[in-house]
Amino acid sequence: MQLCWLRTDLRLHDNHALWHASQQGPVVAVYVVTPNDWRAHDDAPIKIDFWRRNLIALQAQLTERNIPLRVLHADSWADCPSQLLKLAQELEVGSLHFNDEYGLHEQSRDDATAAVFADAGLSCQRYTDQLLFAPGSLTTQSGTMYKVYSQFRKQAYKALHRQLPDCLPAPERQTALPLDSDPPAAGFDAFECPSEDQQALWPAGEQAALERLEHFCAELLEEYAEDRDRPDLDVTSRLSAYLAAGVLSPRQCLHAALRVNRGEFDGGNRGAVSWINELLWREFYKHILVCYPRVSRHRAFRPETEVVQWRTDADGLAAWQQGRTGIPLVDAAMRQLLETGWMHNRLRMVSAMFLTKNLLIDWREGERWFMQHLIDGDLAANNGGWQWSASTGTDAAPYFRVFNPVSQSQKCDPDGSFIRQWLPELAELAARDIHLPPQEDLLSRDHTYPAPIVDLRSSRQRAIDAFRQAGETA
Ligand code: FAD
Repeated sequence: MQLCWLRTDLRLHDNHALWHASQQGPVVAVYVVTPNDWRAHDDAPIKIDFWRRNLIALQAQLTERNIPLRVLHADSWADCPSQLLKLAQELEVGSLHFNDEYGLHEQSRDDATAAVFADAGLSCQRYTDQLLFAPGSLTTQSGTMYKVYSQFRKQAYKALHRQLPDCLPAPERQTALPLDSDPPAAGFDAFECPSEDQQALWPAGEQAALERLEHFCAELLEEYAEDRDRPDLDVTSRLSAYLAAGVLSPRQCLHAALRVNRGEFDGGNRGAVSWINELLWREFYKHILVCYPRVSRHRAFRPETEVVQWRTDADGLAAWQQGRTGIPLVDAAMRQLLETGWMHNRLRMVSAMFLTKNLLIDWREGERWFMQHLIDGDLAANNGGWQWSASTGTDAAPYFRVFNPVSQSQKCDPDGSFIRQWLPELAELAARDIHLPPQEDLLSRDHTYPAPIVDLRSSRQRAIDAFRQAGETA
């Protein structure tokens, strides 16, 4: 018998650990519920609920294949090795199989598990599954990880030209085992359950994910390159939550895009090339996380930026968090996050720049807030995005190139429809006014929408000066 430990790989198809385990004998799947660690890692309630709902959907699929699912409850990740070993010994399994997860704590939990199994004379088989390439396998000529994305991508293209990673099938139906599954979890303690409307935005299960992928490739991919920076048009895939929970694999996404683009990933349809480029950014940041572990310890990728004098501004931070900064695009974006658990990529960049540059608040505050609210919260992508926006990261925006949130607003939401959707209090404003409402106009309408909490021009200069000064100190 084989034991397969499911984590952020909640799918049947193209699941390396599950497939390989099934090739070695009958499989029992196991999931470990660890609320204390989820809380310590700032995992958002909406994300935990998404995991739970996907686990239930997966359990139904596993049951069809006679694969029982056991659910363990552990106080912390430190208890995972002993609890898994106890189960493995009870079931007399040959091996434990799991797909690698990235991040210092995840890796040390998994290393400890492998060590405990080795001490007990049992084998542990680990697989690269979340990514197209194992971290550390794409390197410069001197054997180090790339720091510049475009060079990493070039190497990734070469590797894909050499060999495209295939998708694995789902495990076949096995002979029924004399073992029951544990009942599906109704909720995980201490995590608030999102509303039904919020859940409906993110239907659970592999089938729902594959349908979303097919719809995106058939209807939206073609225009993706032109329209991907337009939150008002809603043309991105919204697959990030599915990728982060492993309900979908990057290989499934890659092959779906390749089917539209006659097998080409670096030429042909601009939309497909541009979307695959985003999948490679996802890849890049996970490789960075593993190869430069300091980013997993809340450190800046560029150590010289550690001396930037961030401001302490509790009111400014609270206004940003609640979408009350007086800058409509930033506020609309932050309310989209609070209400849906998701935010459009361009708006993540705009709101992160506003926090770290115009408010000059430490990027770690924003990183944490995003993580606490995103359904797709992912340490590598979130950290990469924040450090890019804060100019502290690898291949980041130069510190003097500060987005102006008002001109960004005019470009990416030209008629203001996105702002109107999320800030109904501004709905009656004309397109020319909505990006920065004239104060006298708001006053005359007895409006509660706040005036900008910061002057964009002088705060931009303040950020540039702070970074320049940090550069001189370092
Ligand atoms: P699409 O445009 O359809 O892209 C397809 C997939 O590629 C996404 O689902 C995602 O898995 C990946 N991807 C796209 N852009 C990026 C990127 N810049 N970096 C890494 N992967 C990318 N993404 C997360 O998955 N989790 C996060 O916690 C996260 N935090 C972010 C924080 C900041 C400050 C910024 C600037 C970006 C962050 N991103 C994060 C990246 C990106 O914003 C989201 O992946 C994207 O908006 C998800 O929407 P989508 O699925 O429609 O993307």
